[in-house]
Amino acid sequence: LGGSEFSDYFLLDNLLTDEQRALKKKVREFMDQEVIPVINPYWERAEFPFELVPKLAQLDIAGFQIAGYGCPGMSNVTAGLVILELARGDLSMSTMMGVHSALAMMSVALLGSEEQKQRFLPPMARMEKLGAFGLTEPTHGSDVVKLETTARRDGDSYVINGHKRWIGNATFADYSIIWARGDDGHVGGYVVEKGTPGFDAQVIKGKTALRCVQNAQISLTDVRVPAANRLANVHTFRDTEKVLLASRFCVAWESIGAAIAGYETALAYAKQRKQFGMPLAAFQLIQYRLSRMLADITDMLCMQHRLSQLLDEGEYSMPRVALAKMHYTERARAILADARDMLGGNGILLDYHVARHLCDIEAIDTYEGTDTVQALIVGRDITGYSAFVPAV
Ligand code: FAD
Repeated sequence: LGGSEFSDYFLLDNLLTDEQRALKKKVREFMDQEVIPVINPYWERAEFPFELVPKLAQLDIAGFQIAGYGCPGMSNVTAGLVILELARGDLSMSTMMGVHSALAMMSVALLGSEEQKQRFLPPMARMEKLGAFGLTEPTHGSDVVKLETTARRDGDSYVINGHKRWIGNATFADYSIIWARGDDGHVGGYVVEKGTPGFDAQVIKGKTALRCVQNAQISLTDVRVPAANRLANVHTFRDTEKVLLASRFCVAWESIGAAIAGYETALAYAKQRKQFGMPLAAFQLIQYRLSRMLADITDMLCMQHRLSQLLDEGEYSMPRVALAKMHYTERARAILADARDMLGGNGILLDYHVARHLCDIEAIDTYEGTDTVQALIVGRDITGYSAFVPAV
């Protein structure tokens, strides 16, 4: 299932259809041939490789699980395999695609009217139009439910004012889904189209993770959007959470992809690097560490395969998805740190790719809710007590 000849130890691949295997292979080859050989200089320069977008579009994967409107309508298992392969290659690419497909497109698919789906989704599926998702604010991250950006109704428009932070793709996106509080005090989603006056998105510089992803600080000053651009089926923040469940599920798959990249690189390196006259792979302590990595990856793949099946059966549960995201991201960080060490000095060079993944996984750990926030979601579910706000 991991898409790798090395890391699918419990032969989950045997559970896949020929179609799933072929798609996984196609994405893997794209990442191996088109992305991995060129990505490091972009990462160093903190630039996104826009010239890869048309090739990415040709994979016909944008929209992941969304059915119709030119989207591929994948099962959750299939979408997971695709995301895993993107992430194994490069977490900036998987993040850019995740923001476009799992956040922006999914917002329209889950919460838009029929007219909005027909208007926005087909060009996004072809990747002629790219999306962003603006929820987080400078003063509201983990407590984003308290967001302060406002959308005031004025005739046939809404007028949006406020600030957003960390918004991926927003400096170039054609459609930015901006979440704001309406006159009724409830959160709504508004599609702000590129070039709308008053929308200012500046790249956040100096990132040490996901350097290719263009994250923006956004100012919205009297941004006027047509009333027809308010997502029709958003009534409260609970609706926003439907999108977050879908995208958090994708982020869980991303973590596994990153962990596999670390393990596979460490294994290959240990087989060819000799010290004390023997390949590193022949030493007991190295074998122990590789075995621990493989055990973690096998654990994550089995868990995530089952979680994907549950979603395919319509069993949606935010705590389950939170448990997955929390667990895999923590394991992926540990595996990548161990792989980095196993490569010795070479481990800190971008050339071996582990260093890039090790930096990037730090952002994966934070976005879509930190480790702590996922634990609080699970904790509330299993104990019945919400511990988000301290008792005073
Ligand atoms: P804070 O909420 O300030 O958290 C700081 C620390 O406090 C964390 O360790 C946290 O776990 C801890 N903490 C918070 N609350 C509690 C509590 N109740 N109990 C115990 N500890 C707590 N957002 C978007 O809307 N769109 C995007 O495209 C997007 N992309 C992103 C890309 C990157 C690279 C990054 C870094 C972030 C992105 N985000 C995006 C924002 C992301 O979702 C937030 O950064 C995240 O939710 C955490 O919020 P924060 O950074 O404000 O941290």
